Amino acid sequence: MKMQNSLTLKVIILTAVASSPIARNERQEHFHKLLLISFDGFRWNYDQDVNTPNMDTLAKEGVKAKYITPPFVTMTSPSHFTTITGRWIEDHGVIHNMMFNTETLRKYSHKATQNKTEWWDNQVLPLWITAQNQGKKTASFHYPGGGANYSGQAVNRSLVEAFDHPDSNETEWRENIDIVMNWFTKEDFDFVTLYYGEPDNIGHKFGPETENRKAIIQQIDRTIGYLRAAIEKYGLSNTLNVIITSDHGMTTVKKKPNVKEILLINYIKFSDLVKFDILDYGGFGMILPKPGKEEEIYQVLKSAHPNLKVYKREEFPERFHYSKHERILPILLYGDPGYSVNGRFILYVNKGDHGFDNEDMDMKTIFRAFGPDFKKGYLAEPFDSIHIYPLMCHLLGVQPEPNNGSLALTQDMLNSAASKNLLLPILVGSTIVVQLLICI
Ligand SMILES: [Zn+2]
Repeated sequence: MKMQNSLTLKVIILTAVASSPIARNERQEHFHKLLLISFDGFRWNYDQDVNTPNMDTLAKEGVKAKYITPPFVTMTSPSHFTTITGRWIEDHGVIHNMMFNTETLRKYSHKATQNKTEWWDNQVLPLWITAQNQGKKTASFHYPGGGANYSGQAVNRSLVEAFDHPDSNETEWRENIDIVMNWFTKEDFDFVTLYYGEPDNIGHKFGPETENRKAIIQQIDRTIGYLRAAIEKYGLSNTLNVIITSDHGMTTVKKKPNVKEILLINYIKFSDLVKFDILDYGGFGMILPKPGKEEEIYQVLKSAHPNLKVYKREEFPERFHYSKHERILPILLYGDPGYSVNGRFILYVNKGDHGFDNEDMDMKTIFRAFGPDFKKGYLAEPFDSIHIYPLMCHLLGVQPEPNNGSLALTQDMLNSAASKNLLLPILVGSTIVVQLLICI
């Protein structure tokens, strides 16, 4: 083990757990239920140029983070799976929204992957399964990855988005909240993840700096007001914690004549050099060169466009925690914010997009939380979304799987009663906890 200077010292806490199932009612005496809601593509500052009375009330009644940083690649399935596993994307293996096969050259869309266990199950257990193995009852409502099996186990209840599911039907949004409230009250579920496809869809279609985006944020705000009233109506105020978050932000796509767009066919001949590629998907792309052509593609592309970053897989910046998984193709490309990585032509469909560097402020997203275990009126400093996982485990009283997050980053947002529980999971039942501190 090599120790570097203390500033760059990275501590990964691996919590390995050997446990026997703990009596369900014994755990429930100590821990509250948890609802995780994700509004896809909710940029961190979307509530700052539009009236959001319900979100403002929420900030007074609970916790608001200034913003949070999603993992790279800032994309729906990879980022949601980091939230639900606490692992970097290169560890959990869901490296893109699209599933692909470099032999058959087939690509599967984001929605087509949702029931494909072979894409999601890479020996990293999401919280649904871990919680179920420890006596909890869990459900996924449209949340990415909820429709797959993990080590042969399905989520207790999972609804997967249909292909033609409308993203912005406000009535349906409210109905879904009522369905989830009934799951908690009538069927005693402990942990539910609820996903909404907005404001991502509107952000792509019209761009983030538009009246359309402001309107959908107001619709989300009304929905949050409905949620708060529903929690009261169903008698869950004292027993249900809620986390509201998202997977990435959104930035305006830069187009001609304002800029010179990135179009790779201007620099390389695809039929001679490229075996397979994932391009035309926002700010990030990957290329599998034909045999012996990697160096040629790399050399040409790396200086092709001033706003295009090109890397060989093994040289991709460590800070992204992205490139080590075997599914990653040999050449990686990403654009400066707003510069889409186009391949053979430009689609001109999206006015807003993501997939860019997660350090860019337009890729940052939201974190809100309220309920019996959270402080009221607490403004949290920014943190990485990877730390949501250990927080959720703590709230549910579930021993975490090995993960890259840390409760230390979020525990200040808990009230004193919840903080007292910090060691409780170690003491209850017959759980044996082994904590390893590994410095690299
Ligand atoms: Zn999107």
